[in-house]
Amino acid sequence: MSDFDVIIVGGGIAGASLGAALGGRRRALIIEAEDQCGYHTTGRSAAFWLAHYGGPEVMPLTLASGPLLEQGWPTGERSWLRRRGAITIARAYMDLREALAANSRDAPLSELKRPDLETRIPGLREGWDFGVDDPSCADIDVAGLHQACLAHFRRTGGKILCASPLTSASRSGEHWIVEAGSERFTAAVIVNAAGAWADGVARLCGVSPLGIRPLRRTIVQARIQRSGLSDLPLVNDALERFYFKGESDNRVWISPHDETETEPCDAAAEELDVATAIDRFQSVVDWPVEAVERTWAGLRSFAPDRLPVFGFDSTPGFFWCAGQGGFGIQTSPAAAELCAALLVGEAAEARAFSPLRFK
Ligand SMILES: Cc1cc2nc3c(=O)[nH]c(=O)nc-3n(C[C@H](O)[C@H](O)[C@H](O)COP(=O)(O)OP(=O)(O)OC[C@H]3O[C@@H](n4cnc5c(N)ncnc54)[C@H](O)[C@@H]3O)c2cc1C
Repeated sequence: MSDFDVIIVGGGIAGASLGAALGGRRRALIIEAEDQCGYHTTGRSAAFWLAHYGGPEVMPLTLASGPLLEQGWPTGERSWLRRRGAITIARAYMDLREALAANSRDAPLSELKRPDLETRIPGLREGWDFGVDDPSCADIDVAGLHQACLAHFRRTGGKILCASPLTSASRSGEHWIVEAGSERFTAAVIVNAAGAWADGVARLCGVSPLGIRPLRRTIVQARIQRSGLSDLPLVNDALERFYFKGESDNRVWISPHDETETEPCDAAAEELDVATAIDRFQSVVDWPVEAVERTWAGLRSFAPDRLPVFGFDSTPGFFWCAGQGGFGIQTSPAAAELCAALLVGEAAEARAFSPLRFK
């Protein structure tokens, strides 16, 4: 018998939530390369839940996850969501087409005209005359959710090993022989939840990569000479050149919506992206920026069709849980439940997300 039924490679939200969803139904181990889980993309997100984000195929995962996050999945101790609302703004009505097309019964949107926009976003510069209101947008307590997943995984018998990168894995009969840090284990199934490193982990296991590309995204925390910003809506550009949200009474998080292809790494913000973020922000509102207090970047990883990859590879015992792009937190409960059901044989292959679509 193998040491474990399942070894999950990666302790970010993908690996942690899947571990929680397994809930002790399999003997499972999470191996994490870093000293702590959540160091990479999971610890660097903008932390919002936005119904339409990621497109129509991702939306069912987001909508199914909403109530679960609201109820504090996986343990129910408290809600991970705090309602904020979002407004997508445009200078030209035509630019709102996609935002309006995303309208659905589950997350209804409404149009806003200049007077409404001025009330909702005081100090909005001239020219931003059109908007779409999405009241369902919420902030996610990412750290709380991630820690609750890890705690639930442990409580249900899961083991977590940090500072233990997978360095090799080979298939022997019905199981894998896995080298991680200085340890060696056997397992029936390897789950690839390695985020930006997903293709590299596949190669280490002798599995063909899928073309999952890490794209860098930057966030700037700026102190503003203005108060009352905490509860402002998330403000999105219809042409996807920026978004920003209030982070405290006089602070905002701004992203220039960058997508720079990069090797998997400990990503950091580049000066040019920070400058672009500030420049775009100042073209939207007349709020004076007092200081750039903090900047960071993380890697959002995308499969070639920008849909997540959940399911078994054609290589026996190799399971993908990767390519969560910019929606990996907001979809995590439903994605984890789906992956857990696939792993224990309680669900049939989800075709849109299966790795076999690339083979
Ligand atoms: C700036 C930014 C804003 C974002 N905003 C949002 C948002 O508002 N809402 C939302 O839902 N999503 C958002 N996202 C996306 C979200 O953060 C990701 O989809 C999600 O965190 C991906 O989680 P993950 O577990 O796959 O990756 P990660 O958190 O990167 O975890 C992968 C882990 O695998 C480990 N690993 C890699 N190789 C090995 C190995 N060989 N052995 C062992 N371990 C290994 C890594 O160390 C890492 O800890 C944002 C992302 C960024 C960068």
